[in-house]
Amino acid sequence: MNATRILVIEDEPDLREGLRHNLELEGFAIDTAADGKDGLRRARSDGLGLILLDLMLPGLSGLEVLRQLRDGGSVTPVIIVSAKGQDRDKVAGLELGADDYITKPFTLTELTARVRAVLRRAQAKETPAVAAPAGVATGGAVLRFPELTIDFKRFTVTRDGVEHQLSRYEAEILRMLVDRRGEVVSRQDLLRKVWGYVHLPTTRTVDNHIARLRKKLEDDVENPRHVVTVHGLGYRFESAPEIPS
Ligand code: CA
Repeated sequence: MNATRILVIEDEPDLREGLRHNLELEGFAIDTAADGKDGLRRARSDGLGLILLDLMLPGLSGLEVLRQLRDGGSVTPVIIVSAKGQDRDKVAGLELGADDYITKPFTLTELTARVRAVLRRAQAKETPAVAAPAGVATGGAVLRFPELTIDFKRFTVTRDGVEHQLSRYEAEILRMLVDRRGEVVSRQDLLRKVWGYVHLPTTRTVDNHIARLRKKLEDDVENPRHVVTVHGLGYRFESAPEIPS
């Protein structure tokens, strides 16, 4: 089996080469980029298992790299590498779809543990049999609703003939809501099941992802028909899928 390929986007040469050296010793194959633009270009290439993304970069900031990467539909796991005092940027990064963050200075043991944990989570999500909760009523990868088609395999939503790419988090939120359609799903439940960890500072992250999801799903985001807010409780998926003929 080929070694998992990790892209290190870091402008400090000593740290970049140190990460390369140590992660190679851990058995990973390493690509590097020293600025945001080159980082984004390399981040878009196929076959990457994970990206370590510094926030303070020349050319294009780490957050901008992440935004453009996720807007382009990439679901490659990203760990943000931030300096002390960048808490607000860390939160912004998680809301943009980063999978975890680590704060400088960190030990190699800490970094390796984070990398392996994120890779494990990503691999678990690629196996639908593991990811699908019990009692799934909807089953298949492609679901058709009036005026809406969701393809969970390709992470796409098609509405009025226009295809929208979903981020991995958007797709997982939607899957969970659809699987439990007609029921209220709480923000805490979404945080636990979709993000898989509890150190996120607020449930606002869920709300921001729901807002982005609605732009793709709903004709009128102010009056959503599919994903409705249940005030004080969470969200509920309302539409019933069409029965395949
Ligand atoms: Ca930097």
